[in-house]
Amino acid sequence: MATQEPLHIDPSELGVYEIESLCMNCRDNGITKILPIKIPHFKDVLLESFNCDKCGFHNRTVKDAGQIQEKGTKYRFRIETPQDFQRQVVRGDTGVLRIEDLELETPPAPGQLTNLEGVFGKIISDLEADQPARKEAQPDMYKAVEGITAQLRGYLEGKNLPVTLSLDDPSGNSFIEPSTNDFSNSKYTRTDYARTHAQNVQLGLVAEDAEDGTDANQDNAEDGGGMDGVDIVDGEVYELPTECPACGKPCTVNMKKTKIPHFKEVIIMATNCDYCGYRTSDVKTGGEVPEKGRRITLQVKTKEDLSRDILKSETCALKSETLGLEVHAGTLGGRFTTVEGLLTDVRDQLHGQIFDVDGDLAGGDSMTAETRCKWNAFFDKLNKAINAEVEFDIILEDPLANSFVQETRDNDPQVKSEDYERTPEEMEELGLNDIKTEGYEQDKETVAAKTNGEEKHSL
Ligand SMILES: [Zn+2]
Ligand SMILES: [Zn+2]
Repeated sequence: MATQEPLHIDPSELGVYEIESLCMNCRDNGITKILPIKIPHFKDVLLESFNCDKCGFHNRTVKDAGQIQEKGTKYRFRIETPQDFQRQVVRGDTGVLRIEDLELETPPAPGQLTNLEGVFGKIISDLEADQPARKEAQPDMYKAVEGITAQLRGYLEGKNLPVTLSLDDPSGNSFIEPSTNDFSNSKYTRTDYARTHAQNVQLGLVAEDAEDGTDANQDNAEDGGGMDGVDIVDGEVYELPTECPACGKPCTVNMKKTKIPHFKEVIIMATNCDYCGYRTSDVKTGGEVPEKGRRITLQVKTKEDLSRDILKSETCALKSETLGLEVHAGTLGGRFTTVEGLLTDVRDQLHGQIFDVDGDLAGGDSMTAETRCKWNAFFDKLNKAINAEVEFDIILEDPLANSFVQETRDNDPQVKSEDYERTPEEMEELGLNDIKTEGYEQDKETVAAKTNGEEKHSL
């Protein structure tokens, strides 16, 4: 960071703000420019751009113009073509970025606004900065790092793609730019998650010693347990104290057990925070891990089909080939609602990620007419589906077979149910995979740890 003092500026009152500040490279004076910018599909941030005329050093960081978001966000993005490196990225102060294929993790660093090409370039230069010293002192490490930078460079040149990266930010202030095509092939997933107590402590929302038992309660509440030995009566509402994942204050989870006809019992959980207004609802399904996943396909033909009950468990992905839609399991959590209710939730959530609150396109002019057009077409189709103006398919793909669509008669021809082998990705996400050998893992961990140290050092 090049500024000498913290600045508190309302971005709306600000044009460009310039201050003289110390150059971290040559210790002479350079200029820091601060300007508010709007990131398409995301929000306002303060861009802090430092330039030193004396030595040419420059640096760009982003300061969050907003606050800690209600939920943490984790992105997973598969870079398939060189074009994908142009996607815009905001890396918040608390964002942890991982190149999954290399098991390479870079720790939180000052906020960065760049594209994926810039992200990879920065990792390479950070890794290479200490290579000369390493060559003598740690020849093995030198070689390992050499291998990693060669791979990273290769990706940038379009070799050995795809490569998958993830960006996990408990503050919810990181971002990878989405595209309309991303929703049909799980190239891009965004998962909004409720923070844990530890993450709220990390963000400074809760004091470290504020562990008056709410933590334990929350852990229990999260897996729907904590009621052992209690005879849970169907339909009765149980209250559990917990910590609000958004603001860290005490709040209450309401739990209710419900039997879904022709299926199983589920626990419906609703959290309401009086302090910050955080509201969320979730459905927990239980049971053993079945041998196979289950894929349920529903053909929606009439308005009546929209009122069918649907249970989408928290591990279930939602797809529609007609609508060009694919919603990752984590995007929506568990829901017990109707087809219409589920699609409305999906639309509102995606819409909120792409458009401003007031309905304008986020990003305004910086979004190309073509992009704008694609998004409009996408949402038009979704709206038609919600109004039963088109026939469409809904696919529930649940690796734990915990999801359900109501059938309106025996052997309902509009509902097709089939078992399927879980994919390696699903196995991994569910933590059912354990295939790496120990030696390999150790090696990579050492390298990752080393990288972490260096990145901190060089910034
Ligand atoms: Zn300088
Ligand atoms: Zn709250």
